[in-house]
Amino acid sequence: MMPVVFVGHGSPMNAIEDNAWHRSWVALGARLSRPRAVLCVSAHWETRGVCVTGAPAPETIHDFYGFPAALFAVRYPAAGEPALAQRIVRLIPDAAVHVDESRGLDHGAWSVLCAMYPQADVPVVQLSLDVRRSGEQHYQLAAALAPLRQEGILVLASGNIVHNLRLYRFGSPEQLPWAVRFRDQVNDLIARRDHPALYRFGTLGADAALAINSAEHYLPLLYALALQRPEESVELFNDELASALSMTSLLIGAA
Ligand code: ZN
Repeated sequence: MMPVVFVGHGSPMNAIEDNAWHRSWVALGARLSRPRAVLCVSAHWETRGVCVTGAPAPETIHDFYGFPAALFAVRYPAAGEPALAQRIVRLIPDAAVHVDESRGLDHGAWSVLCAMYPQADVPVVQLSLDVRRSGEQHYQLAAALAPLRQEGILVLASGNIVHNLRLYRFGSPEQLPWAVRFRDQVNDLIARRDHPALYRFGTLGADAALAINSAEHYLPLLYALALQRPEESVELFNDELASALSMTSLLIGAA
């Protein structure tokens, strides 16, 4: 049974900087038993309807601007796995899943995977976030992916639980009170396994509205939680805040 990971990915620079986040991802890759393939649900692929990547050799997408040339030079040449894409199509019966043959890997996937699996020798498929779905519908869709855990697939959800770039101040160590409160509120709900409260995040109050000022970085969390079995505990790591961004990450079902 493969564990499930939600990772707070933060800045794309974490792909190439030798910092605490990057090192934690290196350690995570070394700690987990080697997956047959990775299914990544990233904040950076939003679509109308549900899509999966079907390219046998997905390109590296540099979906950001204003960063150093060294970051644009990164290539993450992991193979795709069209058979896994087809498996996902069959697992999600209530939605017409579109297999996108041309889509590559976005930085929500490769900035983390280039640290976890630097040899790029584990195939990677991405699943999009359907912008038309509610939090509960994302959670239900994710639950249908549960059989993949027994097939050697590592589900890697990649976002940030507290993510407000409008209020973010680069380099600021300030602990914004609302961000601290929401981080603590979410961590408490995760510990109590109150997943309905977490997928109904629109009812969590004013702190949530600031932390989730656009939902795409929060939603991947729901994909990880939906795959938590009753007997499984959650291990938090990188549970830190900087300005209006949290790096809180979850490892579910690890030995
Ligand atoms: Zn991001």
